[in-house]
Amino acid sequence: MLVKDSMFNIQRCEVSRISQVNFDDLPFGRVFSDHMFIMEYADGKWSQGSIVPFQNISLNPASSVIHYGQSIFEGIKAFRNVDGRISIFRPEENIKRFNKSAERMCMPQLDKNVFLEALKQLIDVDNKWVPESMEASLYIRPFMFSTDEYIGVKPSETYRFMIFTCPVGKYYAGDVKVKVETHYARSVKGGTGFAKAAGNYAGALYPAKIAQEQGYHQLLWTDAVEHKYIEESGTMNVMFRTGNKIITPALSETILNGVTRDSVLTLARDWGYEVEERRVSVEEIRQLLKDGKLDEAFGAGTAATIAPICSIGFEDANVELPPYSGWEFAPKAAQTLIDIRRGRTNDPFNWNTYI
Ligand SMILES: *Cc1c(COP(=O)(O)O)cnc(C)c1O
Repeated sequence: MLVKDSMFNIQRCEVSRISQVNFDDLPFGRVFSDHMFIMEYADGKWSQGSIVPFQNISLNPASSVIHYGQSIFEGIKAFRNVDGRISIFRPEENIKRFNKSAERMCMPQLDKNVFLEALKQLIDVDNKWVPESMEASLYIRPFMFSTDEYIGVKPSETYRFMIFTCPVGKYYAGDVKVKVETHYARSVKGGTGFAKAAGNYAGALYPAKIAQEQGYHQLLWTDAVEHKYIEESGTMNVMFRTGNKIITPALSETILNGVTRDSVLTLARDWGYEVEERRVSVEEIRQLLKDGKLDEAFGAGTAATIAPICSIGFEDANVELPPYSGWEFAPKAAQTLIDIRRGRTNDPFNWNTYI
């Protein structure tokens, strides 16, 4: 199909690397498609964007991002539909969130149409990289960072916005063992927890490493003040089911507002579950487990979609959940999301954007 004149410069690579890629065995986040998108901000405005061959970038050692971390990102997925078309899952939500993160980190806003068009054109140029396998997808990583060559602490005046993509296989999170974190915090009131800002993840590595050394996969973060209320898990929002109720921590400035979270809650409401978005205490979850009333617990995020939690570690004991094979909600939600994204069923909430 002939595409109308591009709003970007497009420089295609001479030789594709795609023949070197084993699409049956894709590690997460290590295989990069042929092209990337790049756009520069200076003098108060964005330049025209370019799609160029995927390559290293060169930075001045004084680039402010390296020292003070003005850097934000997004994670989006594109899917090969059963009819061969390619859909991107709810990209407008990620674009809105990107601009919220940018505002919090004193970075410039991106025009949502330019952002969306960049996604579509980049994926179109690399459309052969969108896996055919129904288990796999194209993970999209947009990001922005400061580039002033100056080591004073102040907002940079220049930035770079980029997007690259990675074909990824079925993400197997396994059955996740989480540990309730009662000392460290990833996010505080007044902080940057709601933003997908690079530094949030750096700060979370150490507590996560300690939990991993203790045999857990991930942390169940709690509020930074009392460590009494559950926030989220790793890079996923967290949900619990007891009977007909789906319970999840309410959004706040300390929680990342996940697109998967919203999608799963939308399905839950549509299916007649009672959805409660509110404070969820560690004690409440512990009591539900004790009474045998915690039917399901899972993380929700773009990379894994849904990651079932099989065990929760409290300060003095690990408590197991009922086996996943008997769950009614999470497996159905995961399957429905796959079916919508693949165009195998209709898309009642208009979540797919076709390129
Ligand atoms: C990205 C992310 C999520 C999940 O958001 P999605 O939009 O569903 O991918 C949840 N928590 C944190 C901390 C995240 O970075």
